[in-house]
Amino acid sequence: MKRSVRRGLGFAAGLLVVVAAALYVWLAPPAHERETLFTGGTILTMAEGGVAEALLVRDGRIVAVGSRAAVETQASHGTHRVDLEGRTLMPGLIEPHTHPLATALLGSAIDVSGFRYGSRAEVMNALRQGLDQWQPGAWSLAFGWDPVLVPDLDPPTLAELDALSPDRPLVILSQMMHDAYANSAALRVAGIDDSSPNPPAGELGRDADGHLNGTLRELGAIGLLFAAMPPPPEGSIDLLLNLQLGGYARAGYTTIGVAGPVGRAKDPVGILKARLSAPDAPLQGVIYALPTQTVASATPESPLVPGGVVGVKFWMDGSPYTGGAAFAAPYADTALTRDRLHLHAGHMGALAISEQDFAAAFEDFHRRGFQIAVHAQGERAVDRVLDTAERVLAATPRADHRHRLEHNALITEAQLRRAKALGFTTSFFIDHIYYYGDRLPDLIGPDPMGRYMPLKTAIEAGHHVSIHGDHPATPIGPFRSFATAVLRKTRDSGTLVGDGQQLTRLEALRAMTTEPAWQLGLDKDRGSLEPGKAADLVLLSDNPLTVPDTDLRDIAVLGTWIAGQRVDSRKATAANAGLLWHMLISFL
Ligand SMILES: [Zn+2]
Repeated sequence: MKRSVRRGLGFAAGLLVVVAAALYVWLAPPAHERETLFTGGTILTMAEGGVAEALLVRDGRIVAVGSRAAVETQASHGTHRVDLEGRTLMPGLIEPHTHPLATALLGSAIDVSGFRYGSRAEVMNALRQGLDQWQPGAWSLAFGWDPVLVPDLDPPTLAELDALSPDRPLVILSQMMHDAYANSAALRVAGIDDSSPNPPAGELGRDADGHLNGTLRELGAIGLLFAAMPPPPEGSIDLLLNLQLGGYARAGYTTIGVAGPVGRAKDPVGILKARLSAPDAPLQGVIYALPTQTVASATPESPLVPGGVVGVKFWMDGSPYTGGAAFAAPYADTALTRDRLHLHAGHMGALAISEQDFAAAFEDFHRRGFQIAVHAQGERAVDRVLDTAERVLAATPRADHRHRLEHNALITEAQLRRAKALGFTTSFFIDHIYYYGDRLPDLIGPDPMGRYMPLKTAIEAGHHVSIHGDHPATPIGPFRSFATAVLRKTRDSGTLVGDGQQLTRLEALRAMTTEPAWQLGLDKDRGSLEPGKAADLVLLSDNPLTVPDTDLRDIAVLGTWIAGQRVDSRKATAANAGLLWHMLISFL
């Protein structure tokens, strides 16, 4: 063969290789930098199909979910593969009603709660030990004093409080935040003495001789103490809040609804927005602001805006454990209600807002397009909300408003049907049953126990039903709430509360994923694993649909993803280091 021919053939072969390579690159799926393929475990989609073998995520969105064979054909060659090692992947949990600022701030107080301690001796010991340790600020604060859960918890005397902390101001806040106990130093700094009159909406406890006894009742009185406390160090609230957001992530949540930003901070909504919209935030969230935290012309933000204010929060009654719930019947007359809660025989909880004030506020926020969430435990509270809503909606109809009834301890079947017809949705504080279920008959009598927190009735009435933890009212623990929704057993005696109101496991999981997503206005984007939705995920040690009943509460969370990115929920993140640094330099 001539040299020139050989050279020509070589050139052609070379060209062929280049063309083939170009064709291969052109025909093959492109390599995506941000593409992840999850296989090797159980994938609960919470959508049609239920269980899948494989999930493909690209640029934060779900591209395909289904059988391994079908999903793998859509993966590009360079896809990042995650082996689930037999564990369970599902949509990131959604907590529709929680208070992250209050949880963060009270989380730094001495814990004396009935969730941890079972007797007065244990509580007093926890106080002594806590006071020996360093606390931020010049005051000592303890949180969680709970005379309902701790049977022998008589109020501390002023002498006991002064012995615990002779010089430094000490305040103990009750679990329901309606009572506080202050030592003499705290009363002195707050300017309260034997001659002080009761403040509006509050009461200063006194002994038989009229001397202060250290007990302060209701917000008007407790507020005098908190107003006297020096503000927390600059920047410390940002750091505590960001640590708290990581705490939600470690529990398996990827989205929360802030149901009223309560907590001691100059600008609670601003601080929440700043942390929730940080690019490396470990959690997503929307906010229901207090009416006083909005300006007159404001309109709601989209729930897709990080930290968006989507709604407002009202309280129509109080807590069942203080005498504050506006039930239809009087509280039971028992040793618990008389001696611990100081209620008179025949006590009825009061409605928190007058009919006229609520109607005016409801109409205003409804007209402006806000979602309205109302705390309502008793039947009378639910009636006031629905009566008002019925009138306003007749004059100003608004499709798909999704106004919310919160907690719903004794909402009736008729009220649930009426609420559904008016377009309301319900979220239940299910862990009342777990923690307080054994004490409830002493508060409300035995009769209404069968319909306490009626989740099944709500589902049968056609409601989207979610469950929430209302932290810091209970400790964060989504699978404890899940177990309670399924089993409805009390913590102390294992008594079944409300037979027939148990949810199936699938219903209970929907109450933590698809249903709260709908309530927060995020159903098109989150809550289930379907193509096009955000890849918000949680990895679990066990499949909640199949583990034995006894293990439901112990399902462990192994990690979360937001928009396909693994969440770093450690305490020592760069973000927390930055916030710590910011706080430290503010001291200089
Ligand atoms: Zn709440």
